[in-house]
Amino acid sequence: MDGSRSMVIVSAHAADFVWRAGGAIALHTEAGGSATVVSLSYGENGESGDLWRVPGQTVEAVKEHRHAEASSAASALGAEFIPLDLGDYPLEVPTESLRQLASIYVENKTDVLLVHAPEDPFNPDHPVASEAAQKARLLAMGAGGVPASFETIPPPVTYAFEPHQPDLCSFKPDTFVDVTSIWPIKKAAMEQMAAQSYLQAHYQTRAEQRAFQARYVGFGSEVTHVEAFQRLVPERKERL
Ligand SMILES: [Zn+2]
Repeated sequence: MDGSRSMVIVSAHAADFVWRAGGAIALHTEAGGSATVVSLSYGENGESGDLWRVPGQTVEAVKEHRHAEASSAASALGAEFIPLDLGDYPLEVPTESLRQLASIYVENKTDVLLVHAPEDPFNPDHPVASEAAQKARLLAMGAGGVPASFETIPPPVTYAFEPHQPDLCSFKPDTFVDVTSIWPIKKAAMEQMAAQSYLQAHYQTRAEQRAFQARYVGFGSEVTHVEAFQRLVPERKERL
C-alpha cells in the first residue's frame, strides 16, 4: 500500500470505513497513494444512534449531518468521499449502482480494494455491501484479461476490514497493519463521527488488542495500534 497506488474503500454506512480501516487509509495516503471512500448509504436509519436522541429529528437532517461528519473524517484520512445515498436498514444495491461502483474502480485504476466481511449475523447491510463491492470488482476486471465490451482494470487486491464482532462473522485475519505512527490521524477521524461517539473507545481498544496479538507475526512492543484484515482473493507475488 504505497506510492502511486490507488485504494478504494466501500463502506455500507457513512462511518464504517473510519472505525475499521481508517489507519490503513491514512498510511496509504501518507505514502503518496490515492484513496476513495464510496459510502453506499449514510447509515441514516440504523447507524446514527446519537442523532436519533434529538427530539423532532428527521431523516434528511440526519443525512446532512452524516454527510458532514463522513466528509470531514475522509478528509482527515486524506481520502475523497463519494456518497451513493442508496438508503440503509435495508440497504439494496440496484444494477445501476453496481455499474457506477465498477466505473469508480476503473476510473481510479484501483489497486487495493477494502470491503466489508461477507458475513455478519447482526447487521442487515454489511454483507449486502460486501457482495456488491466484490461483484462490482468482477464487472471492473472482466474475465481473466480477455477483451470485453467495457473498459477493464487488472484485478485489485481485495481485503475485508475487521467487522464489529469478528468471531461471529467468520473473520479470520491474515494481514496485520501497524497503524501506530498515524494513530493520531485515525483518532481525529473517529472524533468527527460524533453520531456514534460510543464506538470510539471500542475501536481504540480493538487496535490495542490487535497490536498485542500481532507480536506473534513479528511486531515488537513499540507497535501499539494495529488494524486486522482478511484477504478475500488470491494475491499475485513475484517471489516468496
Ligand atoms: Zn455499518
